[in-house]
Amino acid sequence: MNYDDIAKKIAEMIDNNDMAPWKAEEVALKEGVPAPAHLAVAASARRLFIEERSGHTFHHIVLPPEPYQITYRCPNDGTQWTLAADDTYIACGLCGTPLDMVEEEKRYSQLVNNYIGGVEDYYSYAGEVTVGGEVNQTFQNILCWGPGVGHLGISAGCFQLNKYGPIEIKVSDWAVAARNLAFVFDTENEREKAMQLIKARLPDIIPKITEAHLAQWDGEVFNVDFLNKQHHADRILHSCFYTRFKNHRGHGQTSHSVGMAKNIIDDLFTQNAIHCRLSVVGMGRDGDLKPSPRNRRGRYVSARQRIPIKDYEKNIGRPIDEFLAYIELDRQGVQEETGWPAYTGMGGEIIPAFYRTMKNNPRPYLVSCYQKLYAETRGGDVIFGVELPNVEVGITSSPEGIISPMAREALKIAGIHSAKAYAAAVAAITLAGEYNFSTLHIKEKMYTGR
Ligand SMILES: [Zn+2]
Repeated sequence: MNYDDIAKKIAEMIDNNDMAPWKAEEVALKEGVPAPAHLAVAASARRLFIEERSGHTFHHIVLPPEPYQITYRCPNDGTQWTLAADDTYIACGLCGTPLDMVEEEKRYSQLVNNYIGGVEDYYSYAGEVTVGGEVNQTFQNILCWGPGVGHLGISAGCFQLNKYGPIEIKVSDWAVAARNLAFVFDTENEREKAMQLIKARLPDIIPKITEAHLAQWDGEVFNVDFLNKQHHADRILHSCFYTRFKNHRGHGQTSHSVGMAKNIIDDLFTQNAIHCRLSVVGMGRDGDLKPSPRNRRGRYVSARQRIPIKDYEKNIGRPIDEFLAYIELDRQGVQEETGWPAYTGMGGEIIPAFYRTMKNNPRPYLVSCYQKLYAETRGGDVIFGVELPNVEVGITSSPEGIISPMAREALKIAGIHSAKAYAAAVAAITLAGEYNFSTLHIKEKMYTGR
């Protein structure tokens, strides 16, 4: 059999549940494909399987001719270098000495576990997940990740959770963006007059800035709030504009609309003889790229699953109370260290992997990585859940930048056609990863080699 036929055969085996996708390399070797060609055959097999599952063909997420890594050693200083086969600079990054390959059997390995394609960003397959509730769908999980076994953990977590039905999703209809204006006055009286003036004129200001900057993107202002602060002699007035969008991220448009509001307000102050000492865009209070337990950026999404306590106790081999004790000690730890009971552990890895895969706006996804994990018992069930309060995503193109062909392909193959579906998919895999991680921890199997 030629390599293409072997890849097809392996793809069918995966599709028939005769083998796990991550066993493809092993099976290719058994089918007589020599190293390192078995790595390309295995990746091809997984691609064929995903094309079959998703109904879409890979075009932009390419499989390079030599899709593997090679391990080298520097003969001068002994450092090890694991490089992609298509790297052309085969010299030590420290001293410049030409590198030696390590011994034959340790030379070649996958670019990432369960690799399916991509250069620079290496895509892997992390199983599929079914969600229900406010989004009803099955997603093919493709993720860009660094080396490691994370994708296998997500696959396993999705499979385990889906045994109990779709993962239940609750998700906001809108994504929020916010920009804050700040004004400094000499007296409280002047500040009060300013606030009343802005409040009175908002019915004129909001339609103007909406027309100029938001309407084209299906965005609207839904709230403007005020906050008085003082720093010694500075009587500060914060005025934060909140906007919302269905599928667009809207951050840039919100900034420009609020910049326009500032100009209008500054003119109003002049016309009404209000002495404002300083008028600025005060970003410190608008949640711009700052994680916050208050949703000032993005969309709330929650994913959870109910599992009979008896089943879970059997799985972990100990009473449920010990599992709840573990969840509590970790919750306390995070709260005491960060001031908010949010975990950024696995979420800080899984969520960026998802953003790097889909390459949507925003590229900096710090705010979106905030997650809150919880477990509780109700009746005979344990409920395992995760809340992501600020998932930012622009699923449409944007004046802030294009969506690359590779990104559009990734979304299509994953099965994501709206910002709500994006949020549902990212919450489901975050839950699956955390579930798998927590289960391994309570079984004392994590990092212990047990
Ligand atoms: Zn060296």
